[in-house]
Amino acid sequence: MIIVIKHGADKAQVENLKGLLKSKNIEPHVSQGSLQTVIGCVGDVAQIDPGLIEALDVVESVQRIQEPYKAANRKFHPDDTVVCAGEAKIGGGHFGVIAGPCSVESEAQIVEVARAVKAAGADMLRGGAFKPRTSPYSFQGLGKLGLDFLLTAKKETGLPIVTELMDFKDIELFNDVDVIQIGARNMQNFNLLKEVGAYTDKPILLKRGMSATLQELLMSAEYVMASGNPNVILCERGIRTFETAMRNTLDLGVVPVLRRSTHLPIIVDPSHATGYSYLVDPVSVAAAAIGADGLIIEVHNDPQRAKCDGAQSQTPAMFAATMARIRKTRAALS
Ligand code: PEP
Ligand code: MN
Repeated sequence: MIIVIKHGADKAQVENLKGLLKSKNIEPHVSQGSLQTVIGCVGDVAQIDPGLIEALDVVESVQRIQEPYKAANRKFHPDDTVVCAGEAKIGGGHFGVIAGPCSVESEAQIVEVARAVKAAGADMLRGGAFKPRTSPYSFQGLGKLGLDFLLTAKKETGLPIVTELMDFKDIELFNDVDVIQIGARNMQNFNLLKEVGAYTDKPILLKRGMSATLQELLMSAEYVMASGNPNVILCERGIRTFETAMRNTLDLGVVPVLRRSTHLPIIVDPSHATGYSYLVDPVSVAAAAIGADGLIIEVHNDPQRAKCDGAQSQTPAMFAATMARIRKTRAALS
């Protein structure tokens, strides 16, 4: 962190600032120029709020030269993290596809979809049992019964299961779940992130909030990691912009941007990003081409009758065709 001091600043106040930094175990290195004085800070600056320093009378501006996230930072962990769930691997060259319905609706539905996505080459099965719905009158998910049906589908197919945890009070129901999803709406539910990070080292699929910056996403991953769980998968699922032609705006450029900043695997959700099933195939191919580590795709055996997100759900046949195109794309790029 570099602190630029205002021209003509009171010397005693600058000394006070140095004292404040030292009291936080930061070593201040002062460079006095003819026009400007700057203080270089050495030490654990992650604990300092730059806004507080900037608010001081003598301070012109504050620049961070190091990111506030450590555990997720590629600088301190140059090798890609590979997250494993059962036989499935995501990251470090392993491309993982998670597929399944938005929500678990019945045992027959989830087992049928699980078989179909497995046959098409999916690595994991998704399905929401606890659903974060915008309207309290919409289908809220089957809850514990939905988890039981997911476990049946896991037993039938061997696919690891991914499902969303909305409230930590339900965590014990998730003992046989392979990957815990934290949804976009909970990306900054810091208590949930801390609780889940301290409770388990199972993979956490962390979705980007719909108006979250990449730094905020990484700071949320940092909450899970700083609480003891290093197994975080980041998921780009589109953000909210002025555009209304699609459900969200897919920010695909984040894949190479995040790749530079973090060693964590990065996957893309083309279903929530676009909102329409016809867009899922081209966007999935683009995500694979730009270097994502995987995808999470909504697939329903009967999208028109889906209780949630039918318009964006692929049929099993569409999904199989997308998987074939992803394989070709990856082969062409390798
Ligand atoms: C979901 O995966 O079904 C979901 C609710 O996603 P998001 O949190 O990205 O909206
Ligand atoms: Mn959904």
